[in-house]
Amino acid sequence: MTHLAGCLCRAVRIEIEAEPMAARMCWCRQCQYLGGGSATVNVCFPSEQVRTTGEVRWHESVADSGNVMRRGFCPACGTPLFSVAEARPHLVFIRAGALDDPNLKAPEAIIWTEAAPAWACHDPDVPQFPAQIPPVA
Ligand SMILES: [Zn+2]
Ligand SMILES: [Zn+2]
Repeated sequence: MTHLAGCLCRAVRIEIEAEPMAARMCWCRQCQYLGGGSATVNVCFPSEQVRTTGEVRWHESVADSGNVMRRGFCPACGTPLFSVAEARPHLVFIRAGALDDPNLKAPEAIIWTEAAPAWACHDPDVPQFPAQIPPVA
Protein backbone atom coordinates (compact mmCIF):
# COMPACT_ATOMS: atom_id res chain seq x y z
CA MET A 1 0.00 0.00 0.00
CA THR A 2 1.28 3.45 -0.89
CA HIS A 3 1.13 6.14 1.77
CA LEU A 4 1.21 9.78 0.71
CA ALA A 5 2.54 12.91 2.32
CA GLY A 6 3.55 16.42 1.38
CA CYS A 7 3.72 20.05 2.36
CA LEU A 8 1.00 22.61 2.93
CA CYS A 9 1.35 24.25 -0.52
CA ARG A 10 1.63 20.85 -2.25
CA ALA A 11 4.85 21.80 -4.08
CA VAL A 12 6.45 18.79 -2.41
CA ARG A 13 4.77 15.41 -2.63
CA ILE A 14 6.01 12.22 -1.04
CA GLU A 15 5.18 8.60 -1.88
CA ILE A 16 5.99 5.90 0.65
CA GLU A 17 5.98 2.24 -0.36
CA ALA A 18 6.34 0.86 3.16
CA GLU A 19 4.47 0.64 6.41
CA PRO A 20 5.63 2.92 9.24
CA MET A 21 8.31 1.35 11.44
CA ALA A 22 7.75 3.52 14.50
CA ALA A 23 6.39 6.84 15.64
CA ARG A 24 7.71 9.10 18.38
CA MET A 25 6.80 12.45 19.83
CA CYS A 26 9.86 14.57 20.58
CA TRP A 27 10.03 17.54 22.96
CA CYS A 28 13.71 18.32 22.48
CA ARG A 29 14.43 22.03 22.26
CA GLN A 30 15.13 21.88 18.52
CA CYS A 31 11.82 20.17 17.89
CA GLN A 32 10.05 22.96 19.75
CA TYR A 33 11.35 25.36 17.09
CA LEU A 34 10.23 23.04 14.31
CA GLY A 35 6.88 22.32 15.95
CA GLY A 36 6.03 25.97 16.54
CA GLY A 37 6.19 25.53 20.32
CA SER A 38 4.87 22.01 20.63
CA ALA A 39 6.59 18.66 20.21
CA THR A 40 7.19 17.18 16.78
CA VAL A 41 5.60 13.86 15.89
CA ASN A 42 7.83 11.79 13.65
CA VAL A 43 6.97 8.64 11.76
CA CYS A 44 9.85 6.43 10.69
CA PHE A 45 10.16 4.73 7.29
CA PRO A 46 12.96 2.97 5.41
CA SER A 47 14.62 5.69 3.29
CA GLU A 48 14.77 3.50 0.19
CA GLN A 49 10.98 3.24 0.09
CA VAL A 50 10.36 6.99 0.09
CA ARG A 51 10.16 8.96 -3.16
CA THR A 52 9.89 12.76 -3.25
CA THR A 53 8.90 15.18 -5.99
CA GLY A 54 9.42 18.95 -5.74
CA GLU A 55 12.23 20.94 -4.19
CA VAL A 56 13.22 20.17 -0.61
CA ARG A 57 15.70 22.42 1.22
CA TRP A 58 17.88 20.90 3.94
CA HIS A 59 19.23 22.33 7.16
CA GLU A 60 21.88 20.57 9.20
CA SER A 61 22.27 20.85 12.95
CA VAL A 62 23.58 18.94 15.94
CA ALA A 63 20.66 17.63 17.97
CA ASP A 64 20.49 17.60 21.76
CA SER A 65 21.27 13.88 21.50
CA GLY A 66 24.59 14.77 19.83
CA ASN A 67 23.41 13.32 16.50
CA VAL A 68 24.04 15.35 13.35
CA MET A 69 20.57 15.76 11.87
CA ARG A 70 19.49 16.94 8.43
CA ARG A 71 16.01 18.39 8.33
CA GLY A 72 14.13 18.86 5.07
CA PHE A 73 11.43 21.45 4.50
CA CYS A 74 9.51 23.01 1.63
CA PRO A 75 11.23 26.28 0.63
CA ALA A 76 7.94 27.72 -0.62
CA CYS A 77 5.69 27.21 2.41
CA GLY A 78 8.16 26.18 5.12
CA THR A 79 6.43 22.97 6.16
CA PRO A 80 8.87 20.69 8.04
CA LEU A 81 8.85 17.36 6.22
CA PHE A 82 11.83 15.15 7.00
CA SER A 83 14.56 14.48 9.47
CA VAL A 84 17.47 12.14 8.83
CA ALA A 85 20.29 11.33 11.23
CA GLU A 86 23.63 11.46 9.44
CA ALA A 87 24.67 8.21 11.15
CA ARG A 88 21.48 6.38 10.15
CA PRO A 89 20.72 7.36 6.53
CA HIS A 90 18.67 4.17 6.00
CA LEU A 91 15.88 5.73 8.09
CA VAL A 92 13.82 8.80 7.33
CA PHE A 93 11.44 10.42 9.78
CA ILE A 94 8.46 12.14 8.21
CA ARG A 95 6.54 14.70 10.25
CA ALA A 96 3.16 13.22 11.13
CA GLY A 97 1.46 16.47 10.16
CA ALA A 98 2.79 16.11 6.61
CA LEU A 99 1.13 12.72 6.12
CA ASP A 100 -2.07 12.80 4.10
CA ASP A 101 -3.41 10.55 6.88
CA PRO A 102 -2.09 11.81 10.23
CA ASN A 103 -3.77 8.78 11.84
CA LEU A 104 -1.39 6.42 10.07
CA LYS A 105 0.57 5.70 13.24
CA ALA A 106 0.14 7.06 16.76
CA PRO A 107 3.25 7.93 18.78
CA GLU A 108 4.55 4.98 20.81
CA ALA A 109 6.95 7.01 22.91
CA ILE A 110 7.30 10.58 24.14
CA ILE A 111 10.97 11.57 24.35
CA TRP A 112 12.89 14.54 25.76
CA THR A 113 10.14 15.32 28.26
CA GLU A 114 12.76 17.04 30.45
CA ALA A 115 13.10 19.73 27.76
CA ALA A 116 9.34 20.30 27.49
CA PRO A 117 7.79 23.50 28.87
CA ALA A 118 5.89 23.24 32.14
CA TRP A 119 2.56 23.61 30.35
CA ALA A 120 3.13 20.62 28.07
CA CYS A 121 0.60 17.79 28.39
CA HIS A 122 1.85 14.24 28.07
CA ASP A 123 -0.55 11.37 27.41
CA PRO A 124 -0.18 9.11 30.48
CA ASP A 125 -0.92 6.07 28.31
CA VAL A 126 2.19 6.62 26.17
CA PRO A 127 5.63 5.73 27.60
CA GLN A 128 7.65 8.83 28.47
CA PHE A 129 11.41 9.30 28.54
CA PRO A 130 13.34 12.30 29.87
CA ALA A 131 15.83 12.35 26.98
CA GLN A 132 16.94 10.32 23.96
CA ILE A 133 16.15 6.60 23.57
CA PRO A 134 17.91 4.05 21.34
CA PRO A 135 17.41 4.30 17.56
CA VAL A 136 14.51 2.57 15.84
CA ALA A 137 16.76 0.38 13.67
ZN1 LIG B 1 5.19 23.76 0.30
ZN1 LIG C 1 13.45 16.45 18.92
